[in-house]
Amino acid sequence: MPNIKCTVTECAYNSNVMCDAPMIQVNHCGTQNSHTSEETQCDTFKPKA
Ligand code: SF4
Repeated sequence: MPNIKCTVTECAYNSNVMCDAPMIQVNHCGTQNSHTSEETQCDTFKPKA
């Protein structure tokens, strides 16, 4: 998968501010029609154990 920089370091998939998941899913956030990055979110996020 292409390099994905992610600052959500509390995610179990995060490694040195990069995403290490084999794939990610990104969804709308609070809308059916996003217009800004704030209206998207990573659905693959998993809290660190
Ligand atoms: S799964 Fe999502 S939140 Fe977690 S490191 Fe990857 S991009 Fe960031």
